[in-house]
Amino acid sequence: MTAAEQPVRFLLVDDLPENLVALEALLKREGLHCHCARSGEEALELLLVNDYALALLDVQMPGMDGFELAELMRGSERSRHVPIIFVTAGTGNTTRRFRGYEAGAVDFIQKPIEADILRSKANVFFELYNQRRQIATQRDSLAALGIELQATDAQKNRFLAVLAHELRNPIMALVAGLRLLERREGTGDVAEIRSAMNRSLSHMTRLVEDLLDISRIEQGKISLRHEDLVLQDVVTFAIETVQPTIDAAGHALHLQLPDQPITLRGDHARVTQIVGNLISNAARYTPNGGTIDVGLRTEDRWAKIEVADNGIGIAAEQQGRIFDIFAQVAPDGRMNQDGLGIGLALVKQLVELHGGRILLKRSAPGEGSSFEVWLPLTG
Ligand code: ADP
Repeated sequence: MTAAEQPVRFLLVDDLPENLVALEALLKREGLHCHCARSGEEALELLLVNDYALALLDVQMPGMDGFELAELMRGSERSRHVPIIFVTAGTGNTTRRFRGYEAGAVDFIQKPIEADILRSKANVFFELYNQRRQIATQRDSLAALGIELQATDAQKNRFLAVLAHELRNPIMALVAGLRLLERREGTGDVAEIRSAMNRSLSHMTRLVEDLLDISRIEQGKISLRHEDLVLQDVVTFAIETVQPTIDAAGHALHLQLPDQPITLRGDHARVTQIVGNLISNAARYTPNGGTIDVGLRTEDRWAKIEVADNGIGIAAEQQGRIFDIFAQVAPDGRMNQDGLGIGLALVKQLVELHGGRILLKRSAPGEGSSFEVWLPLTG
């Protein structure tokens, strides 16, 4: 039975047994459980071990009266939020005598009790209690779901890491075999098949390396090899790695580098990977014969690398997701054939590991995209 399905309990406190019987008869109905106490002390004992949707307290009792009991209830963490209805005699201004007002709901009802008024006041509190319990049950099941999701996510990450690791060796064997074959004569079909195999293998290598990088980052296992970098050299090197893709698509690449060397401390391979990945995306998501602009400059204590294209662009509603892992946002909703949606997630993590940030500066379908990477300058 979940908490929300358990009976709702309420507490009646009165020194006169006949009053308790009468009140119970008035309020009792299916799903409600009544507990009775004949004194403040007895009530406190019950409050120590039970949760109540409502406490109905007779104000005039010998020994501890209803107000004293209420103040003690408000002083205890367990019972401070139990709503209270005071049963008072006469019309005197009794509210002033109760100081624990602010802690929880309080209401008054006068003797002789009118059955309908008491029932409707009590029902409001029973209803509230039920709603609170339902919310608590939903919150608990959401929390349990969250934990389950985390476990599934961790399992998926472990699977990807193992998969990438296991794929690496056979791919390396294929690359080595292909290198050997390339040394032999080969014409026509053979040469063509070799170069197609070469392209597929580099693509597979990139995917597997990206997957491994992501799982390394998630496990906190990536460490940067910091050295003094001249960003102009890194950008030029990154362009070289992507040049075959740019040439194959017949894109024009415009490069704007400042004369003054821009230096910072960073991991050469990783910064190359950041810039290379952005340029590779620009080349892949731009129809043949497009234009790619790569710029580098400093602003305050930051180096800014900009990669812009006039390609397919990204729809506004998709732009918030592109740095999420496995996000692929082809404008027509199709999956990309040659990507996994890891590249930008990885680039973002690598940029952040360098203390920088990456943003999609502008993008519109059919007009192209422009990404900016900001890296902190050293010194
Ligand atoms: P993928 O391996 O799919 O390229 P990325 O993480 O690099 O993964 O990119 C995520 C998605 O963002 C891509 O699938 C693509 O839809 C979109 N995207 C990235 N760069 C560009 C760009 N320059 N122009 C248009 N869309 C882009």
